[in-house]
Amino acid sequence: MAKIQMTTPLVEMDGDEMTRILWQMIKDELLLPYIDLKTEYYDLGLEYRNETNDQVTIDSAEATKKYGVAVKCATITPNAARMEEYDLKEMWKSPNGTIRAALDGTVFRAPILVKGIIPYVSNWTKPITIARHAYGDVYKNTEIKVPGKGKAELVFTAEDGTETREVIHEFNGEGILQGIHNTKESISSFARACFSYAIDTKQDLWFSTKDTISKKYDHTFKDIFQEIYDAEYKEKFEELGIEYFYTLIDDAVARVIRSEGGFIWACKNYDGDVMSDMVATAYGDLSMMTSVLVSPSGVYEYEAAHGTVQQHYYKHLRGEETSTNGIATIFAWTGALRKRGELDNIPELMEFADKLERACIKTVEDGKMTRSLSLISSCENPVVLNSQDFIKAIRETFDAL
Ligand code: NAP
Ligand code: MG
Repeated sequence: MAKIQMTTPLVEMDGDEMTRILWQMIKDELLLPYIDLKTEYYDLGLEYRNETNDQVTIDSAEATKKYGVAVKCATITPNAARMEEYDLKEMWKSPNGTIRAALDGTVFRAPILVKGIIPYVSNWTKPITIARHAYGDVYKNTEIKVPGKGKAELVFTAEDGTETREVIHEFNGEGILQGIHNTKESISSFARACFSYAIDTKQDLWFSTKDTISKKYDHTFKDIFQEIYDAEYKEKFEELGIEYFYTLIDDAVARVIRSEGGFIWACKNYDGDVMSDMVATAYGDLSMMTSVLVSPSGVYEYEAAHGTVQQHYYKHLRGEETSTNGIATIFAWTGALRKRGELDNIPELMEFADKLERACIKTVEDGKMTRSLSLISSCENPVVLNSQDFIKAIRETFDAL
């Protein structure tokens, strides 16, 4: 059979450890036999990042802006232990952080659902996608430990020297203080990424804050979302029959738990941190979570939500068998290929992506899976496969579809 042709390259960001091993297997078994794969390759493996003083990460982000679609393998974020392990010149920043900043993007995480792996919340029959604002609030805070009696004030000094003051508290004794901020620019980018992604995936968008208590801070988030929605997205939402829905964070939590899923939940930075862990855990397995970074201008970078699966990699290096689940990484590829197909009008590429995703799901539903899935699956006699055999099993399913 003739291979599917591509017109524009995907930006391919290779990565580290076990996911780097899976990356190659996925390309060899599931992509190259079927697609005349066009990619612009960037090696974001830690060794090459170190060699290029992390320039390769910046270059890959620029290429993503140029071509519009990237697929990324998980990468190591260096810490003290990695400095030694890889003999690094510097503790390079997280590539995801660098790429997110360059694209001014928002991360959307969604679970891959399969029969036999039942979410802890049994009425969640559709995926819930969490969008987390990735700038400011408590993650960029300034804190003071108040030593004793005194007055705390919030002061803003404008460029012309004018001061605006608000008393925070008159302390009678020891205490604590915290200053947080956000910017209209960042909140607007977040809002646009959320509205665009809702349109792209034809799902309702929920947004929640605590605006009844925080009448200026959180209320500004609410207002910015509403203004942008009314001015730029309302018509398109109505045309598609999808809804933008704002509610208080505590009301949202109650509604999310009672819902059947199938929507995007946009959260402020801290809420998103906490809620994405809760939602991911409730759906079952980190190896079944996908992640896509979307810029307000509509640039997409697809990846798995999990990391480089370090311990499996060490086993692999010792020559031991691993059972690492490649599904989220495969879905990163299918997401990127489908988007490329959409943009370049190549229906075969979109059909390929759909079919490969169906093959992944069917393989697990037929009882063939990796170890961690077998532990949470209700399948009676699951066949536990190693990393490579699982990918081969997906290929067999794919060929038989
Ligand atoms: P991790 O790689 O996500 O793995 C944590 C544990 O989750 C694994 O030990 C494994 O559990 C399980 N797991 C995750 N993905 C799996 C898969 N595909 N198949 C089977 N099991 C899977 O997180 P980490 O060990 O905390 O971090 C390792 C490295 O990844 C770090 O250097 C970190 O900087 C990096 N990281 C990168 C990204 C990214 O690039 N997006 C995200 C997170 C972390 P068992 O060992 O129990 O089998
Ligand atoms: Mg967290």
